Amino acid sequence: MKIHEYQARDLLSRAGIAVPPARVVQTAAEARQAFIENGLARQVVKAQVFAGGRGKAGFVKLVDSADEAFKAAEFMLGNRMVSPQTGPDGIAVHRLLIAGAVDIAHEYYLGLVLDRARATASVIASAQGGVEIETVAHEHPEAIIKEPLHPALGLQPYQARNTAVALGFSGKQGQLFADMLLKLSAFFVRYDCSIAEINPLVITRDGRLLAIDAKVNFDDNALFRHPDILALKDDAETDPLEIRAAEANLNYIKLDGDIACLVNGAGLAMATMDVIQLHGGSPANFLDVGGGVKAEGAVEAFRILLADKKVKGVLVNIFGGIARCDLIAEALIQAGNEVGFTVPVVVRLEGTNVQQARDILAGAKKSLPTLQTATDLNDAAQKIVAATRSK
Ligand code: GDP
Ligand code: MN
Repeated sequence: MKIHEYQARDLLSRAGIAVPPARVVQTAAEARQAFIENGLARQVVKAQVFAGGRGKAGFVKLVDSADEAFKAAEFMLGNRMVSPQTGPDGIAVHRLLIAGAVDIAHEYYLGLVLDRARATASVIASAQGGVEIETVAHEHPEAIIKEPLHPALGLQPYQARNTAVALGFSGKQGQLFADMLLKLSAFFVRYDCSIAEINPLVITRDGRLLAIDAKVNFDDNALFRHPDILALKDDAETDPLEIRAAEANLNYIKLDGDIACLVNGAGLAMATMDVIQLHGGSPANFLDVGGGVKAEGAVEAFRILLADKKVKGVLVNIFGGIARCDLIAEALIQAGNEVGFTVPVVVRLEGTNVQQARDILAGAKKSLPTLQTATDLNDAAQKIVAATRSK
């Protein structure tokens, strides 16, 4: 689960990490008012969206007057933000943060992430933080410091001090940094985070160490332990189709292509997307309907897939292991009759009772004229790409 920067700043601040004070607003008039109430000469207006790269996209702006705050807010609320972390259509901005600006002497990167290769959490830090961190990681991997946490004991004070030294901190600042890092790692573990990132962490011209951006994501499977975190969930930032899918227990992620896929099992869904791509198509979504596909699930899945107006065709790829192919075929026909197959649908079934399933589908061709069957995944991908191309 993702939360907004303003929520993350609040949590980090409560964990003892120094964060400049800020207010959240929803209109340009409120932004003007917040600037006045903050009472600081220079402030920063920041779009609150679940995507980074805001600075480069023009959605983080320093302002020196209430009027400038109003104008920046009007721009951000009235335009969609496009960054490398959004789709080409960008995302709408509904909330803004108005924070006291700081005089930056240097920007650092500090984060904790899950390191799957080491099977533990790891600190990631760099003295070259800020908006170019991806480039730094790519071109100068040696400038990125990693410090794995002991799985049971967590980050040890000596590791925090080593990280401080590696970043070039010394004296009082070194102590401040090590203290902040220990707090951040304790926060990461306590809240079952999947990422807790401060970029940039800054040293101000007057020598203070402050977090001026914060990105925190949580492990969905651990949210039951954190009702206070779950209460921060903002569904307005999630695609409505994704919310609907979650309610139906479908694992659905919308993508930018035009070939929808309905698959059982996450691995098979990934493979299906790859093979669509291999044959020149582009997947409109990831959808894992789970092992035991039932008629209700298939009907709702088709409703969700076909609600996406970009979709020109659907590839159904199901392995009948837990569920039997004949039952799946019947579920698909029911979905076709209830939802209406308005676009080409190619079905590839494999597994238990597959021959009966093929017979059932062959018998339904009259009532569902856009339905085709395929013998294997390559055949299915070629057929759906051809069917959607000719449209
Ligand atoms: P992101 O681009 O989405 O990661 O947004 P950030 O909150 O990290 O802001 C992007 C950049 O804007 C930072 O790296 C800073 O260089 C700059 N910035 C943000 N807040 C301040 C501030 O208070 N003062 C100054 N001088 N620059 C800031
Ligand atoms: Mn940032």
